[in-house]
Amino acid sequence: MANPSIRYGASIRKRYNKIREEKRMRYLCDVCGKEAVRRKGSSIWECRHCGTIYAGGAYSMKTASGSVAKRLIEEIKK
Ligand SMILES: [Zn+2]
Repeated sequence: MANPSIRYGASIRKRYNKIREEKRMRYLCDVCGKEAVRRKGSSIWECRHCGTIYAGGAYSMKTASGSVAKRLIEEIKK
């Protein structure tokens, strides 16, 4: 019989590895088209190539709302 607590721990570790991987990942910049967007802080992503700031998820750009990111960029440009 499998111990449920062991199974639980394995799924947590799997999720943690995924988060760690996504934190390290670079994302494609919508502005300059280079894969240079990196996590700068909690929910803040910055393109190292053109300096565009994106508001995204705390750990992954995939959770970002496009409208929120666009609004933030416009806010910074003012
Ligand atoms: Zn860029």
